[in-house]
Amino acid sequence: MAEKKTRKERKEIGNSCVMCKKPLKRVKRYYRDGSYYCNNNCYTKKVEEDAKAKQEAAA
Ligand SMILES: [Zn+2]
Repeated sequence: MAEKKTRKERKEIGNSCVMCKKPLKRVKRYYRDGSYYCNNNCYTKKVEEDAKAKQEAAA
């Protein structure tokens, strides 16, 4: 079981949605601003979170 998990992790590097951490299949990935997302919805969420973090850092 443990060996199987390690192999899976290696495969997922650079291949999962940075917002929800879901593993992505090549056909389905959504590439924006140097990161992969599962869809436009996750990309929008990430952009909103980044904007919020910037606002809090500036305040
Ligand atoms: Zn996602």
